[in-house]
Amino acid sequence: MIKKASFLISNTDYKKCPAPTKPEFAFIGRSNVGKSSLVNMLTGNKNLAKTSGKPGKTQLINHFMIDDNWFMVDLPGYGFAKVSKSIKNTWEKMISDYLTNRDNLVALCVLIDSRLDPQKIDLEFITWCGQHEIPFILVFTKSDKQGKSKTFANVAKFLEAAREIFGEDPQYFITSAQTTDGKEELINFIEAEVQE
Ligand code: GDP
Repeated sequence: MIKKASFLISNTDYKKCPAPTKPEFAFIGRSNVGKSSLVNMLTGNKNLAKTSGKPGKTQLINHFMIDDNWFMVDLPGYGFAKVSKSIKNTWEKMISDYLTNRDNLVALCVLIDSRLDPQKIDLEFITWCGQHEIPFILVFTKSDKQGKSKTFANVAKFLEAAREIFGEDPQYFITSAQTTDGKEELINFIEAEVQE
């Protein structure tokens, strides 16, 4: 259970992020995957992360302090068709610099839309994470949007694709910001990692 969550700071440069004195868990995914909704659901604060009215608006590394114990980081979404090449390059550099240099990053939660078949951009992104030894887990979102069997079928397809890349299943959680399914499991995972 998260008792206390507060916004700390937004940055474009990982060097200006808070001193890496606490374990950190970051969230990333395609725009519209439900990242803001998930962050708000996990923290029990409807307004902590701004849900994206306008895609591509949140281009910052957003730090939140959780229970005075760990950092939650809302990273800008990837995979926007409508942004210019230069904006895309700026994001990519910002995200890759952050991910490869942030020493206290315990796990990157890569959000995957459970409604969809495996998407190339998500598979490319986790491949990049593997190549750069970024510790990541998968968080499937919007599980309430379709029947359980459809969700499980999509999850299974994604895991199969991931297994082809990594030779094993990544750790994963199935969540819904609407029903709060998966909330306890994901927070328990994070809190157990924080204790270590
Ligand atoms: P972001 O761009 O990844 O931050 O995505 P948002 O959190 O803004 O969500 C994008 C859209 O999906 C919004 O209309 C949300 O209300 C909706 N959404 C997000 N999560 C869920 C969920 O778990 N269930 C349902 N039914 N809708 C969701």
